[in-house]
Amino acid sequence: MKILSLHCDYIKFKPLKKALKEPEVLDEKRKENIEVTDPLVIFTAVEKQDEANPNLLIEYIKNIEELIKQVNATNIVLYPYAHLSSSLSRPDFALKTLESAEKELSKNKKYKITRAPFGYYKEFELKCKGHPLSELSRTIGEKNTPDLRPKIIEKLGEPIDHEQLLREISKTKLDTSKLKENDHRIIGKQMDLFSFSEVAPGMVFWHNDGLIIRNNLVEFWRKEHKSAGYQEISTPQILDKKLWLISGHWEKYGENNFRTSYEERDFLVKPMNCPGGMLVYKTKPKSYKDLPLRVGEMGVVHRVELSGVLAGLFRVIQFTQDDAHIFCTEKQLEEEIIKIMDIINKFYETFNLKFDHVELSTRPEKRIGDDKTWDKAEKTLESVLKKKKINFKINPGDGAFYGPKIDFHVKDSLNRTWQLSTIQLDFAMPERFDLTYTDENNEQKRPVMLHRVVYGSLERFIGILLEHTNGKLPLWLAPKQIRVINFTDKNNKACEKLAEELSELGFRVDTDIKSEPIGGKIKQAEMEKVPYIVVIGDKEEASGNLAVRKDNKVTQIKKADFISRIEKEIKEKK
Ligand SMILES: [Zn+2]
Repeated sequence: MKILSLHCDYIKFKPLKKALKEPEVLDEKRKENIEVTDPLVIFTAVEKQDEANPNLLIEYIKNIEELIKQVNATNIVLYPYAHLSSSLSRPDFALKTLESAEKELSKNKKYKITRAPFGYYKEFELKCKGHPLSELSRTIGEKNTPDLRPKIIEKLGEPIDHEQLLREISKTKLDTSKLKENDHRIIGKQMDLFSFSEVAPGMVFWHNDGLIIRNNLVEFWRKEHKSAGYQEISTPQILDKKLWLISGHWEKYGENNFRTSYEERDFLVKPMNCPGGMLVYKTKPKSYKDLPLRVGEMGVVHRVELSGVLAGLFRVIQFTQDDAHIFCTEKQLEEEIIKIMDIINKFYETFNLKFDHVELSTRPEKRIGDDKTWDKAEKTLESVLKKKKINFKINPGDGAFYGPKIDFHVKDSLNRTWQLSTIQLDFAMPERFDLTYTDENNEQKRPVMLHRVVYGSLERFIGILLEHTNGKLPLWLAPKQIRVINFTDKNNKACEKLAEELSELGFRVDTDIKSEPIGGKIKQAEMEKVPYIVVIGDKEEASGNLAVRKDNKVTQIKKADFISRIEKEIKEKK
């Protein structure tokens, strides 16, 4: 590799036409004239023999960093310059070398790295500073240099001990010794639903069977919301700081946010879905005819929690909110809140969760909006609760800074209460994002907005559901609905045939035809919480009936009757 470094007052360059058949693909910005002031320009030619040098990149970077130090530069321009050598490497190798160098050097936040377009004839103009160190050239990789890799890696991060790392990532985090028997983490392990790993604290690894539960809950949610007139959207995971400054989350969530950067812009991994939803609203002018506009999003959000307080699915860092925002007029507000309550009711009934109580949280000390608006908002929520004859208690001062809210608490089979659903009234977001609609008189008005969740966090809801049912999920949710077990090896064919038939009908079915005593196989199926265990022995083969085991009770039943029974059970979500 040959490099020529020039310390300049400025450099200007612009690609004019292709020098290679397939040059680097450029975005609009890089097609234009680029000017960098006070740069250290590194003209670089990557040569044929460099392709066999495993230390090329490290040496290249080491040389550049030495040059940077010598002239005390911070603006670095990596400039591909073929004319320094008559024995060039393959273009793709040269480009990759330059790209990698750019990436490595960019890790040092002090540097601003610019890389000139590769594979083009460029016009350029520069003014060399002319001091003794302003022009230097180097040849890299000709002598046999010792392996510098370990040193550089140490510098960039830490030395890699592959074995040690492998041991660390293979650790499972679950210590069951301190957990209750019905803890969802134990049930989840028995049923092979999910796991956690040290490498992703508070984030769920869904296994096949856990994902079946999750997908079914999402599907049910989708169906119910579609029939309640909701649209569904999906918005990006990482969004520019600007958006979060407008929404107020940048300050509000502070250290509870995952921050990241890209091309020297600050970004936030979304802790909430709302701002993304606002942007979708703003893409098209709205009129009163578009309202009420109900927009749902199964949004994955991240919030920083101390790893010490994480507890299985109950407290996670990454979770899925079954979010929705309703944009409406003040007049429509009451009816919309009632409609949300109807959905919430339907969900609790479906999952056999009892309503425990409702809390109405009112204006906090620190708030936005005038008292008149707050009066109206609180009154609206209160009147809806009264109209629906729902017992509620008031949580004075516990509302959000942008509006009052209603929280719904349920009681599970273990008599524990959980706060799941929320309805929040919001005057701030429409104001902050300048949301408008045109009313009947062609005037610009601001919509009112509701945030609401029903499951709350899908992950937490699944945890609650597992403990609430002790893993005995209703048939429509059970990842394995039926297990067919042989009595002896003679019955294997009949087992497989039945399983195939049931599977074709759409049931989730598997077989256990190991040559083992039947008692053990039944026990295994019960531990995995498979709702229906069908045993086939000679007697069943002869009669054509099935011996169906559910909750320790065995019934002989005709196949057709069994099928219509489970079809009904699934349909009714019992
Ligand atoms: Zn929201």
